[in-house]
Amino acid sequence: MGLNLRRDRYAGCLVGKALGDALGFLVEGRSPKDCQHFVDRFLLSERVFKFQKGPFSFGQYSDDTQLARELMQSFVLCKGFNASDFGKRVARIFTEELIVGRGRATWNAAKRLASGVPADKAGEPAPAAGNGSAMRAAVVGLFFAEDLPQVATVARVQGEVTHKDRRASAGAIAMAVGSALLLNKDTVDADAFVAEVASHCESTDQDFSASLLKLREWIRLPTSEAVQLIQKEGKDPDYKETWWGISPFVTGSVLWAYYSFLRHPRNYMGTVKEAIAVGGDVDTTAAMAGALSGAFLGLNAIPEDYRNTLNDQGVWTLTDLVTLSERCFDLVHS
Ligand SMILES: [Mg+2]
Repeated sequence: MGLNLRRDRYAGCLVGKALGDALGFLVEGRSPKDCQHFVDRFLLSERVFKFQKGPFSFGQYSDDTQLARELMQSFVLCKGFNASDFGKRVARIFTEELIVGRGRATWNAAKRLASGVPADKAGEPAPAAGNGSAMRAAVVGLFFAEDLPQVATVARVQGEVTHKDRRASAGAIAMAVGSALLLNKDTVDADAFVAEVASHCESTDQDFSASLLKLREWIRLPTSEAVQLIQKEGKDPDYKETWWGISPFVTGSVLWAYYSFLRHPRNYMGTVKEAIAVGGDVDTTAAMAGALSGAFLGLNAIPEDYRNTLNDQGVWTLTDLVTLSERCFDLVHS
């Protein structure tokens, strides 16, 4: 594959994540009915550009992309992964109150980091297994070209800065290895792809890896059946669910992101619509699904009128995200 094509895929991964996040953010936590309505009636119409959420205009992305961006920026400026620098960035974005839509475990870790706890000791202990470390991990797939063991190690270590649970680590590895593999693929054989990603998660958490392998069957099911299985996967049978749709539990959210991508591997907006329409923690599921799709299809597969609106409280717009991804590409391919 030509280097220009791969450069386009680096930008696709970060921008694909940001746009999935920004679109899901508009209906985060809403019911499946509301989310389906949003997807059917608004998402592909001009009316969607008028949507706002609180003080935020259309195009605002949330913590998922903010923290992925900080992780990538840290990698570029430190010329390699530096847990301590990343930890400082996590602390700062919380203490300066720039974070948009915070997760509880990441917030707790940020408070510890801000009080001087080192990055390797700050993570929220098990059994907190939310998707906070997986939601930012797809960009780690861009850090090491084809060195997948290194991708998996850094995915785990960056994850532990906020989440210590093994399932959270395995979810982060799944997102990072997935994007790393997709950067180099021209076609996706879903069964082989899922098996390869799962093999990199196995030594960290066998149960997570086994859950991921079930996707080989589940991607053949229609949305309404697949979501029933995926939202329960990895949870205790007696667990009392308090979320609509896909909850922030790491296993279900990562599986739902993969399902959404693998059902529409050649269609970025199809992937994002699939992720959002079932409701729940949809900024994160759409961010993760969008990152996989963007890593495979590249920046130009992401609709221009939508991606042009991206911003974080008026700064870190599309141009800044693309520039950051290009700096990362240049560092890795120098
Ligand atoms: Mg979010």
